[in-house]
Amino acid sequence: MKIFNEIKLAQELIRFPTIKTEDKGIMKFLSRKLTAIGFKCIIIKSKGTGPKPALNLYARSGKSKPHINFLGHTDTVANLNNWKISPFKAVVKNGYLNGRGSQDMKGGIACFISAISKFINNKKFKGSISIIITADEETTGYGCPAVMKYLRKKGDKIDFSIVGEPSSNKSVGDEIRIGRRGSMNGIVTVYGKSGHSAFAGTYINPCTALAKIIARLKSSSLDNGTKFMPPSNLEFTKMNVDNLSENVVPQSASAKFNVRFNSKHKSASLKKKLSKIINTVAKKEKCKTKIEYRVSGEAFYTKPNKEIYMVKKIIKKVTGNSAKLNCRGGTSDSRFLGSIPRLELGLRNTTIHMVDERSPISDLKKLTKIYYNILENYF
Ligand SMILES: [Zn+2]
Repeated sequence: MKIFNEIKLAQELIRFPTIKTEDKGIMKFLSRKLTAIGFKCIIIKSKGTGPKPALNLYARSGKSKPHINFLGHTDTVANLNNWKISPFKAVVKNGYLNGRGSQDMKGGIACFISAISKFINNKKFKGSISIIITADEETTGYGCPAVMKYLRKKGDKIDFSIVGEPSSNKSVGDEIRIGRRGSMNGIVTVYGKSGHSAFAGTYINPCTALAKIIARLKSSSLDNGTKFMPPSNLEFTKMNVDNLSENVVPQSASAKFNVRFNSKHKSASLKKKLSKIINTVAKKEKCKTKIEYRVSGEAFYTKPNKEIYMVKKIIKKVTGNSAKLNCRGGTSDSRFLGSIPRLELGLRNTTIHMVDERSPISDLKKLTKIYYNILENYF
């Protein structure tokens, strides 16, 4: 069977200019590669940023348990001006692979597919390997939920997932992410009774109530944090009172806030808790409120299990690094994986989203080795 070289494959992937949810033929290309090493591929459509749908890929080899999965994305961010080397040429120079997506995260995808091709060639295994590649991780994030819906319908159950986002920092494998904080936005609007500011007692000032609500929310502790996540934090980001007059008490006042919360909370119970605090203060001030929430992602966390310790051991063997388990970093498609035990492990994140994104060739080789060893140890 075919063996794919990680550097060559990464170069081929970078040469597809997949900005936003544009496909440019990359999913067909990946399907061809994976079919050649025995995978069954299916393209799953989701809503794209333009008129065309985004194309996401689900590929599986094997039918039985245990089922290990790799999750990645082929879309890249733009920021394409003033590069020293053209962002889609994928030039290898002075020990670096240059190009948009080299670290985030076409490089990681190439490493995993290369590792699989070598593994399948060398070993007979009992179980399944699957790959999910989404087309909108950097933008809308509809792709991964669409694939998960397909898997639920089909009854495909993933036992462990490796998210290939660039989690490493100073060297490959120095950090493994085992969870992520949740994020929720809120807008609270307080309604009072307007009036002439000279006539105290005839109006109810919503500004006063809002100030008290903010003070109460800021002084309420949400929790003390967990072993891997800091205490949850609520931060006000905007306050607004529409009022052009200096002597009129306004009808309403509003404020926006963002909460970063740890795995001690679910957004639903957090909403209840916050609304209760807000409404208690508002009631005392004789004001009415409207509270709106938008959840960007629930907090999730995989308790270090035997797979996570196995990966830690492999990293030590391949790189000498003692990987730190943490929950840092921005959001990723990992948030859509529900209760699947998982970790995030990929290339370094030193130049992601920047001008002149690049990855050391040696990093790509190391990561491929790590992924290969994970497969060998998993089965
Ligand atoms: Zn990414």
